[in-house]
Amino acid sequence: MNFEQRGILTADELFGLPGVPSMERIARGPVAVIECPQEIPCNPCETACRHQAITIGEPVTRIPVLDPSRCNGCGLCLPACPGQAIFIVDGSLGGGKAAVTLPFEFLPLPAAGDAVTLLDRGGREAGQGEIIKVTATRLFDRTPLVTVSVPVSLAMAVRNIRPRLGRPNQPNPSEGGNGDDSSLA
Ligand code: SF4
Ligand code: SF4
Repeated sequence: MNFEQRGILTADELFGLPGVPSMERIARGPVAVIECPQEIPCNPCETACRHQAITIGEPVTRIPVLDPSRCNGCGLCLPACPGQAIFIVDGSLGGGKAAVTLPFEFLPLPAAGDAVTLLDRGGREAGQGEIIKVTATRLFDRTPLVTVSVPVSLAMAVRNIRPRLGRPNQPNPSEGGNGDDSSLA
């Protein structure tokens, strides 16, 4: 059984992808993790990257290849991906923690400091985490980015969150949100 039959990637399949950096690179700082295993006609991630860190080329059905040495973890490729297949993982936080940044197109949005339930690729609960940052800006065309602190052992497992309901004053992506795009360079 492969990922197409299973619906999600195994660890072996994941680290076999040319868009997935090594754990050594992840430990050095934020970097894109491109979980895109299918040969489909798609390349906005390649054109979104200002650092030429993603290569698809011709034909456009090729699987994206990441050059981790060019990637600074800016996150611009995340909202560009229609499949929400790209994440930023930062294993350099220390204290047994890592940061995972993911596209999050649900309301209510969480806010920095919120405790959230961590979910794996299959939507199963993986533990508890804390929101570090929410970036909701028009630059991202209504795809907010959420950065969550996770145990470092779950850095390559957590790929979604479940916020607590009923939180007041949540940013609205259609209004530009908190507009914090200072890391988008
Ligand atoms: S995170 Fe930024 S530098 Fe890295 S691949 Fe994406 S757009 Fe390029
Ligand atoms: S934009 Fe997303 S779905 Fe399209 S090739 Fe890039 S990673 Fe894959």
